[in-house]
Amino acid sequence: MASIDIQSIRKSFGTFPVLHGVDLTIRDGEFIVLVGPSGCGKSTLLRMIAGLEGVTSGDIRIDGKRVNDLAPKDRDIAMVFQSYALYPHMSVADNMSYSLRLRRTAKEKIASAVGNAASKLGLDPLLERRPRALSGGQRQRVAMGRAIVRQPKAFLFDEPLSNLDARLREQMRAEIKKLHADLRATSIYVTHDQIEAMTLADRIVAMHAGVVQQVGTPLDLYDRPANLFVAGFIGSPGMNFFEGLYVVSGEKAELRLANGTVLPVGKRAGIESGSVATLGIRPEHVTLNDQGALEADVDLIEPTGFGIIMHVTLHDGPLKIFTLDRSMLNPGPKVRVDLPLERLHLFGSDGNRVD
Ligand code: ATP
Repeated sequence: MASIDIQSIRKSFGTFPVLHGVDLTIRDGEFIVLVGPSGCGKSTLLRMIAGLEGVTSGDIRIDGKRVNDLAPKDRDIAMVFQSYALYPHMSVADNMSYSLRLRRTAKEKIASAVGNAASKLGLDPLLERRPRALSGGQRQRVAMGRAIVRQPKAFLFDEPLSNLDARLREQMRAEIKKLHADLRATSIYVTHDQIEAMTLADRIVAMHAGVVQQVGTPLDLYDRPANLFVAGFIGSPGMNFFEGLYVVSGEKAELRLANGTVLPVGKRAGIESGSVATLGIRPEHVTLNDQGALEADVDLIEPTGFGIIMHVTLHDGPLKIFTLDRSMLNPGPKVRVDLPLERLHLFGSDGNRVD
């Protein structure tokens, strides 16, 4: 196992810059998830750590040793791909033992490593099969088994579950989490699925347009998003936003929207009265209440089974509400709501969080 240190990493393809200076320290045994929209540079960063992509500038260190110029095979890192990358003509056992056989590891050692990994992953009955005789989930398990038998310093995962159906994804996600609890191997996992990010990560690295936006525990990002991008990216259904003027009067503060609506926001030290600001509230934090301060028109009801997503209009603006209250399946044309002060996020005109 190993720590991984990424310092001022930049990457361009030709003249096209993809990463604009990434700094990140991954601790020994930590599970890090890189998230961000398509094209933000997360796979490129992962591939640079693996050595599959060169670094334009900056340094990558594994256990303190600079690896920029080290070939992938000499970095002692295992990568698990979305495509599984199994050898079709080899059995499951041979796929799993391939790297050890290349290294001329003793036969007994190989047998015990493959046996251990197979029993951890429930692959014992499948060891003699070829990949084409396996389901997608089983193939993904073999790909993970192949990584485990090498006992590498770190595991890199590039969207390993994105080819699986929803049910299997959920199951494999839990298995990956269990495996990590068991092996405690340093892991970096790339996904654009924020449920995977939230459930698997010790820390999430949220990226956008080649820049790290926030690094923190899943709940740090959910409870205290550093900027509008993270606030909008983490959470489903997504956070509601209202832009307006932040105005202080005495001990109180409010946001004045262009349409005349005034929303109390609670006074913040980090912003001046009269500034443009954006208020955010998560759909699950909007409260429905017959005595609520605000009236909204109901536009659309989306039952999810677990709960209900309500789309309403609050003074010309859209607002999403998530509720577990089944009486809201038939709410009538109007509802009254509150936006509790302690649940409000405020962002300045630069998009950064203000407290
Ligand atoms: P996705 O979620 O779609 O996989 P990503 O965040 O992993 O996206 P990358 O694959 O790292 O994004 O790509 C980042 C940017 O770099 C994209 O604009 C992509 O088109 C570009 N890019 C990636 N590889 C190359 C390459 N070999 N040559 C030129 N441009 C590339």
